[in-house]
Amino acid sequence: MARIRKFIRTVVFLALMGIIAFTLYNLFFLKPKVENLRQLEKLPKKKEISLVISPRAYVEKIKVVALQGSREIILFEGKLPAHINEVTFTVEPRKVGLKNGNALIKVELTRFLLLKETFEISAVVDTQPPRVQLIYAPYTVLQGGSGGIRARLSEPAELYVEVGGRKFRSFKVADNVYIALFGVPVNTSPRDIIKVVAIDEAGNKTIIPLGTGIKKNRFKTVTIDLKGKENLLKPKLHAILGNGEGFSFIELFKKVNEKIRKENKEKLKTIGANSAGQKYWKGRFLQMRGSKVLSKYGEKRRYTYGGKLISKSRHMGYDLASVKNAPVPAANYGVVVFTGDLGIYGNTIVIDHGYGLMSLYAHLADFRVKEGDFVKKGQIIGLTDMTGLAFGDHLHFGILIDGYEVTPLEWWDKKWIRTRIEPIFSD
Ligand SMILES: [Zn+2]
Repeated sequence: MARIRKFIRTVVFLALMGIIAFTLYNLFFLKPKVENLRQLEKLPKKKEISLVISPRAYVEKIKVVALQGSREIILFEGKLPAHINEVTFTVEPRKVGLKNGNALIKVELTRFLLLKETFEISAVVDTQPPRVQLIYAPYTVLQGGSGGIRARLSEPAELYVEVGGRKFRSFKVADNVYIALFGVPVNTSPRDIIKVVAIDEAGNKTIIPLGTGIKKNRFKTVTIDLKGKENLLKPKLHAILGNGEGFSFIELFKKVNEKIRKENKEKLKTIGANSAGQKYWKGRFLQMRGSKVLSKYGEKRRYTYGGKLISKSRHMGYDLASVKNAPVPAANYGVVVFTGDLGIYGNTIVIDHGYGLMSLYAHLADFRVKEGDFVKKGQIIGLTDMTGLAFGDHLHFGILIDGYEVTPLEWWDKKWIRTRIEPIFSD
């Protein structure tokens, strides 16, 4: 009997010790943390905040308050839902009486009824969206063409031009003055509205329609039948793909013309994002001397095999042919930002002219320049060839804005540059 009693006493004692240890562990060692507290650092006109408590550590209640001067304003107060360690709430400073300026935010977590943990972060309340004053915007732009704006903002902000679902970044040229070059994607409709978007540091957004009209451009459709071109293309397709064993000729062509083309465009976007915030170029861009235009920008290409449509693509540059292995001049002053093999483009050079503007030279034989080189207008940078997805020796010449290929035609035109682009460089 005594042994049983002793056994029970031991069990009770151990259980009590366990409960005490467990409680002490939770109280003193398992501390709850608030992830993404920094979301509260900047408070614009309206912001959705979601705070994650991890580890949850038995947190039951959350209270978020803002202290401004002697005032205390509750931004959120509520229970942490069961099995979800996240609370979401919207902060609208003006609605709750928060003024623009500094505030101290306190996040208070309550667990075990009265145990409290407090986290603090200093915040800036700014409910004033940036004002955008357009200094210059073109009257019209062309589908596949280019444009530029100059704008003054009421405060520092991220500014971009949005057209046809694509964003074109801006560059700061003076205090609160920004310029942006933009391309008009070929598939943009003349009914589309070009927008200027400014987002200040707190996250307040201003969107204004540019008022620039989009003029329709004419693009030719060309059908190319691949039957009989297998011997020329097969080794090229294998080289571009890297492998491709076991695929039929048509499958190989589709992969290169669609999948690889898409990857190459993504790569150009990456290259384009690294443009310098200064203007290297001067005057019009050069077209390769004595060259004949084989194919224009925007051309719709239909690839058939024995008359049956197998793949489509858009030609996003000018094909210029001269003699075999003709010397290729840099179209303008700039810095070489890419030399290498670029899939369908073959051996390619990209020159940065600054402020998002770049030129591209594809299907080359070799390179006479290397990345980082400064090149002069007219300087020979390589020789033409037919590397990549080219059917013959020629130069594929492209103009890129923020990595998007636009028509080079405008950039070859002195008057167009003077009237449409130069105004963005002066007040
Ligand atoms: Zn081409």
